[in-house]
Amino acid sequence: MSGATTPGSKTADAVVIGGGIMGASAAHFLAKKGFGRVVLLEKGRLAGVSTGHSAAIIRTYYSNPITLELAKRALHMFENDRDLLGGDCGFRAIGFLLLIGERLRAAGEHILESERRHGLHVERLTVDEVADLAPPLSLDGVSYGILEPRSGYADPTRTTENLVAAARPWGLEPRAGVAATGVHLHGNRVVGVETDEGTIPTNVVVSAAGPWAGRVGSWLGLKYSLRWSRESDLFVERPSDFGALPVVSDPGLRCYLRPYRDDRIIAGLGAPKDIEPVDPDECDPALDPQMRERIERPLFERIPALSRARHLGGYASLYTITDDWHPIVGPEPGLEGYYAFFGGSGHGFKLGPPIGEALADVICGEAPTIDISPFRPGRFIDGEPLASSWGEGNRG
Ligand SMILES: Cc1cc2nc3c(=O)[nH]c(=O)nc-3n(C[C@H](O)[C@H](O)[C@H](O)COP(=O)(O)OP(=O)(O)OC[C@H]3O[C@@H](n4cnc5c(N)ncnc54)[C@H](O)[C@@H]3O)c2cc1C
Repeated sequence: MSGATTPGSKTADAVVIGGGIMGASAAHFLAKKGFGRVVLLEKGRLAGVSTGHSAAIIRTYYSNPITLELAKRALHMFENDRDLLGGDCGFRAIGFLLLIGERLRAAGEHILESERRHGLHVERLTVDEVADLAPPLSLDGVSYGILEPRSGYADPTRTTENLVAAARPWGLEPRAGVAATGVHLHGNRVVGVETDEGTIPTNVVVSAAGPWAGRVGSWLGLKYSLRWSRESDLFVERPSDFGALPVVSDPGLRCYLRPYRDDRIIAGLGAPKDIEPVDPDECDPALDPQMRERIERPLFERIPALSRARHLGGYASLYTITDDWHPIVGPEPGLEGYYAFFGGSGHGFKLGPPIGEALADVICGEAPTIDISPFRPGRFIDGEPLASSWGEGNRG
């Protein structure tokens, strides 16, 4: 969209489109840096789409250097959430256990080695040690375990709300229930955002619209290659004599699980797995019976006791997936003042805050501590997509 801004309307120093973890993080860190009035537009409610449905696992076993460094920074942020993320984000450092079978032995060794090279404390556990750590697990097909003792999970909605609330005194202005409907340009420069409540003049726009980032880009003639997957989680009652359990990722059986509140376990299908294609506008939020069965099969194989536990429902939500499963972040070449920040697929919750912090530096013309240029929108055209040890179609 190209046009003039509404005379007399209040100028924003930046407008962030989308109130999930990515938009909230960008807005938080921009405001914290003293950027000025930062308006955060959210067409529904904060964390109402992918973010609020995230399993919110905070772990560091990524295989390429940029994602590893960002995950390491994320862990530090969640460990220090009151100082660095605006409040208690419900982070529980119960440990993260990766079960490695024969097929993924080489990938597991690579992960161990690269985590250690990046200064992270990870432990290689024998099957007996895994059994001691997580007694409810049946360990058929497991060759060894990788334990990240500091990792765990957080509360995604609380994290998003904290980031927003804490930055209000610095100039963050959340506008929940207000949709962006266009971006105004003057020549190739951003000059405003059209909303369903009028125009906001601004020279900086961050598109953090998650599943709808392609639509926002299309207002400016940008074309992103994005796919969406319908991703489900279910809840089962946690038996009273269950004992302690870390977050468990099981790439052999392709599922993950973790404690949820005090009384239940949350579980979903894990990587590597197929995309469940969906139109973001048509995504049914209910857990369907077939998906329930597909999650229960590996879950009950790994923890037989849960097959006798009460099913407590579940839901479906969205992954937004780029061609290399890594987010698209940074200035859009040829469009002054327009920044991309979306495509978190299955790891965008933990990566949102550290990327938001780095993007705020970039917007302010500073070099971020972690160089996020490998995520630049033009990397596919440049022939420089990101890779990972888990191979094609994975999440990190
Ligand atoms: C089932 C599931 C489990 C997951 N588990 C994990 C995990 O364990 N760990 C992890 O790190 N990640 C996990 N993820 C991934 C993570 O949740 C996502 O990558 C992340 O939440 C994406 O955040 P976002 O801000 O980009 O998108 P969203 O949270 O979808 O936010 C985008 C927002 O933009 C708003 N919006 C769109 N268009 C407009 C507009 N025109 N105007 C105003 N607002 C607009 C939308 O309403 C939405 O609220 C999981 C995801 C799912 C679905």
